[in-house]
Amino acid sequence: MERWTRVRARAKGGEMETVIRCFSCRALVPDIEGPTHRYMTTAPGCWKLYGDLLAREFSDYFDRDIHGLTVDTYAVTHPGEPQRVAIQSVDAHLLRIYFRLEKGWSGERAPAFMKKIVENDELKEQFTWLEPPLFEDVMNVTDVLTARDFEEHKALVNAWARSVWDVWKDKHLESIEMLADKVFSD
Ligand SMILES: [Zn+2]
Repeated sequence: MERWTRVRARAKGGEMETVIRCFSCRALVPDIEGPTHRYMTTAPGCWKLYGDLLAREFSDYFDRDIHGLTVDTYAVTHPGEPQRVAIQSVDAHLLRIYFRLEKGWSGERAPAFMKKIVENDELKEQFTWLEPPLFEDVMNVTDVLTARDFEEHKALVNAWARSVWDVWKDKHLESIEMLADKVFSD
């Protein structure tokens, strides 16, 4: 009993942390109990690390442009199940990444763009479930958390987004381009 208590206490201090692979993004994350998102399915340890990353972005590394890319990239590596709310979320985040990385948009255009999608029910009805690619060899939240300063953080978020976008693009570029055309067809 005493030993068990000590091991547990040490684990809490971070020295004996067990890690598991997030079933969605494949990151090695702490094996913990905890809250997760309503429809972005993620291991609790992955959700916790994402929270740590966001905390950095809201304090030392504040940059709206980079923050948008972080949110989009995390979302599309945790697509959840094929239900309406998840489909709309994943497609919208993929579109933002598409316009940013393929069309060279600045992140400043993203909020207005998201509003255009969110307020257009007819458009959202046309969103379909895109079977997620495998994320085995792409970067994940743990890579971004290795940044030692803001410059590194920016570079890592950009590299993370690019590596995730590449696997989505390989599988679904045509469908995403069709969706992109619909956004501007009205
Ligand atoms: Zn994950």
